[in-house]
Amino acid sequence: MIQNLVGGEWRAVEGRDSLPVYNPATAEEIERVPLSGAPEVEAAVAAASAAYEKWSRTPVLERVRLMFRFKQCLEDAFEDLAAVVTRHHGKTLEEARGEIRRGIEVVDFACSAPTLLQGRTLREVNAGIDQDLYRYPLGVVAGIPPFNFPVMIPLWMFPLAVVAGNTFILKPSERTPLGAVRLAQLFQEAGFPEGVLNLVQGAKEAVEGLLAHPGVRAVSFVGSEPVARAVYAEAARHGKRVQALGGAKNHIVVMPDADLELAVPAILGSAFGNAGERCLAGSVAVAVRGVEEKLLPALKEQAEALVVAPGDQPGAQVGPLIRDDHRRRVVGHIEKGLADGARLLADGRPQMQRAGWFLGPTILEGVTDEMAAGREEIFGPVLSVSHQADLDTAIGQANRMALGNMAVIFTSSGRAARRFREEVQAGMVGVNVPVAQPFAFFPFSGWKGSFYGDLHVHGSDGVDFYTRKKVVVTRW
Ligand code: NAD
Repeated sequence: MIQNLVGGEWRAVEGRDSLPVYNPATAEEIERVPLSGAPEVEAAVAAASAAYEKWSRTPVLERVRLMFRFKQCLEDAFEDLAAVVTRHHGKTLEEARGEIRRGIEVVDFACSAPTLLQGRTLREVNAGIDQDLYRYPLGVVAGIPPFNFPVMIPLWMFPLAVVAGNTFILKPSERTPLGAVRLAQLFQEAGFPEGVLNLVQGAKEAVEGLLAHPGVRAVSFVGSEPVARAVYAEAARHGKRVQALGGAKNHIVVMPDADLELAVPAILGSAFGNAGERCLAGSVAVAVRGVEEKLLPALKEQAEALVVAPGDQPGAQVGPLIRDDHRRRVVGHIEKGLADGARLLADGRPQMQRAGWFLGPTILEGVTDEMAAGREEIFGPVLSVSHQADLDTAIGQANRMALGNMAVIFTSSGRAARRFREEVQAGMVGVNVPVAQPFAFFPFSGWKGSFYGDLHVHGSDGVDFYTRKKVVVTRW
């Protein structure tokens, strides 16, 4: 049974229900995760609050020295972390390595805290008066990540928070809790003081405990749109600072002048990488009139050639889905799409014969945004293809989505790319780039229902989120 980490001590959770943690490639149970509640949250908040007193006054150079050590621990454990991710999430080892690299990049960014945490000064703002802005930590911060990036998303959160002088409580996804356990072990190995990072394992009840607890000053949440919206409202109701990242329905517009040799594998990588369980997955390819004749056969041929296999198998390109009930939901979307009039260009359902929760790459063609398949997040290896007459109507289709995480255009026209960039209503835009993930020093900036809050994760937004400002006006 997985334990909680409270004040530097790994503690068994007594008298609570637990859930199995599986290897999705085999459907075997590999661990159990306890479902913590209010008493476990209380203990973690007490430990994080006690640690905050000293940690918030620890010089920034000391905090950064520890962060550099943590970075080295992550590099040394790189392959081990990737194996843990593949084993309980299912993604391919190559994808797991990519996730860990992107996570470590946030630690790299956090190591520049002596620059990032600087304030501002303006002397002689008025006769004999100077004005200075200082940054302070907030206190105890909670992080609630989703299942699909068990290492990267926790790393979006706690390194920046703790380097800014906060202490942290991480509540990992109950479906993929093992990445966070490994991260916490490495964090201890790096030598951070007890209670700076705490782990509370669990699900809804643990989240409710964190949102209601007056000792938690801020909440970083990443997950599905309905939960993001609810967490945003509830955390705000309790007077907390909150950033809540939600779901996605990302459109990829393919213009007739696109370089299809580049675009086709890129679109398939975007749609089927991470088995489509990614908030930056390309979900709908919008074929602008003139491209369909070449695009459709190439998508079909290359999708059918993708290797569906357990993530630790050499050459695997598409791993299993996280759970069987999630796979049933995804298959339900395929069936509903077909019932609504879409056509099947590639059918991944025969892959369901094998052990584990596999579903092969599936392409629905002739999808419109009136169909659920064209509107709702599917979060599986399903690419919808729709047709539009021109760039205007393609942008119009993308902009009718309630979610606005990412939008992509493939074109060789600078003019079309610029129009797209200016007019599309999404916070992350790719131009001939299929997964427009900002690097750690830029914010991860979803729009509309993909984000509730003001300050995004990482980049300068992340620094602002985890600090509060004090302005001092001085006259001598
Ligand atoms: P989820 O919303 O089910 O769970 C996210 C977290 O919230 C988990 O830690 C879970 O324990 C907790 N939770 C679940 N239900 C809750 C409830 N009713 N009350 C309180 N807490 C609850 O999401 P998931 O299935 O783990 O992750 C997939 C979703 O996350 C997708 O919608 C995906 O688009 C989204 N996502 C978004 C981003 C982004 O950056 N915008 C990144 C990754 C994933």
